[in-house]
Amino acid sequence: MRKSASLPIVAIIGGGFSGAAAALHLALNFGAGRRARIVVFEPRERLGAGLAYDTAEPAHRINVPAFKMSLYPDEPESFADYIVRADTVATDPGAYSAEGVAYPRRCVFGDYVAAELAPYVARGAIEHRRQRVRKVGRSAGRWAVLTEDGEALAADIVVLAATHPAPTLPKALLPLSSSPKLVADSTRADALDGIAPQDRVLVVGNGLTAADVIAALTERGHRGPVISISRRGLRSRGHPSVAQDPFGDFVSEPIARASELLRRIRRTLRDARRQGLSWHPVIDAVRAQGQQIWQALPVVERRRIARLARAHWDVHRFRIAPQVEYVLDQAIEGGRLEIAAASIASAAIEDGEIRVDLRQRGLDALRLIAVDAVVVTTGPAHGDILKSQPFLAELEKEGVLSPCETGLGIACDRHARAVGSGGRVEASLFIAGPLARGTFGELMGLPQVTDHAVFVAREIEALLARESGATPSPVE
Ligand SMILES: Cc1cc2nc3c(=O)[nH]c(=O)nc-3n(C[C@H](O)[C@H](O)[C@H](O)COP(=O)(O)OP(=O)(O)OC[C@H]3O[C@@H](n4cnc5c(N)ncnc54)[C@H](O)[C@@H]3O)c2cc1C
Repeated sequence: MRKSASLPIVAIIGGGFSGAAAALHLALNFGAGRRARIVVFEPRERLGAGLAYDTAEPAHRINVPAFKMSLYPDEPESFADYIVRADTVATDPGAYSAEGVAYPRRCVFGDYVAAELAPYVARGAIEHRRQRVRKVGRSAGRWAVLTEDGEALAADIVVLAATHPAPTLPKALLPLSSSPKLVADSTRADALDGIAPQDRVLVVGNGLTAADVIAALTERGHRGPVISISRRGLRSRGHPSVAQDPFGDFVSEPIARASELLRRIRRTLRDARRQGLSWHPVIDAVRAQGQQIWQALPVVERRRIARLARAHWDVHRFRIAPQVEYVLDQAIEGGRLEIAAASIASAAIEDGEIRVDLRQRGLDALRLIAVDAVVVTTGPAHGDILKSQPFLAELEKEGVLSPCETGLGIACDRHARAVGSGGRVEASLFIAGPLARGTFGELMGLPQVTDHAVFVAREIEALLARESGATPSPVE
């Protein structure tokens, strides 16, 4: 085994699920022999949790069944087994749905990933540096990675896995920006602490983060009225009561246009209905074949889908846990929660309350509402990812990185290598996780993120092998 000082260095920026999973699979590929140092920069205490699973809110549950979330594609039950082993139900009796499917709290998934990585961290196969990266530049044929506390590391390969930036505040809400009752980033640990039980709340957004917020408020005993708005008024859907196998084939005959894809989906939905199936297995099939479908489409058609179909796709494909769906249904039935198709025309603070003019979909007249608090849940601003951090902005300025053409993340090639200005491929700079979805297609849910981490680890291993003149280990 080579001495650690002479080993090449792989620096992974961001140790959420994507960065941690890429590190783990790289370490697994290396086996007993260490072929590189794997250094993960992640300010959070635990590796593997990231934004999604680093939450102490008891109402935040995983949104797909536990048996579909695993660090290992060939061991789909790995997390479900962990739940039983760690007896997490003892402290969370509501973890199972009425059908007996486990939807534990999201932090439990973070615990599982951290536990899987712990042995590798303990023996130094993966190094966790609890530091935030401030700058990445080239230096003598390598990458110079500089942290906020002034440490520098010369790396041979860099992996970018800093996926979810904070949401952008909608312009119409700028007049509220100094109000303590504006929650601009609902994913912060203390985000909802300033909302009183009787407060009238406007939730801006209707997706999974909105569901998280409403469930968390309810869990805290909030009783005031809530209005939740999005342009189309679509609400995240739940899971089917009976599991169904994916239904539909969208790849045997390649699809070259967005309109053709939508036609095919509609036709398959009709076929499914005729066979007594719900819409769920059709969307599951589109998701499972998503990367092939996406990669067969020209960029202009991908952009069209991202622009026109994304809202519909998100609410059908990202489903809420049955426990969360129940809370929302109850709130709607009880008249506490209204879901509306509207956007914000203007907002102001007057006489101690927040007054918001809503532009209602399909109606000319504005609707004026008065609330005590506003919570923004429009989700991470992936389209502006390269502006979200100084080191990313600088890499873009230098032409090393560029935004992907679909507006969904960072440009990369089919090896997940960053593509900079003028189409230049950076052979030793990889994009791991959802930021690569403009190239790969559906890459947000855990199964796809895991597969992608395995893929990136393989690509890195192959690059290391090429550079050292060795052959990469065979694929298991
Ligand atoms: C709220 C939420 C809930 C979700 N729930 C589910 C679910 O239940 N089931 C499912 O299948 N999918 C779910 N997903 C989707 C998916 O699992 C996540 O998107 C996935 O975990 C992405 O992880 P990531 O590591 O790529 O990104 P992130 O979680 O964003 O991790 C990036 C990490 O990078 C770090 N970082 C950022 N900048 C720097 C820097 N400059 N230096 C060092 N580190 C940095 C951050 O601290 C962060 O920990 C959810 C997504 C979200 C946002």
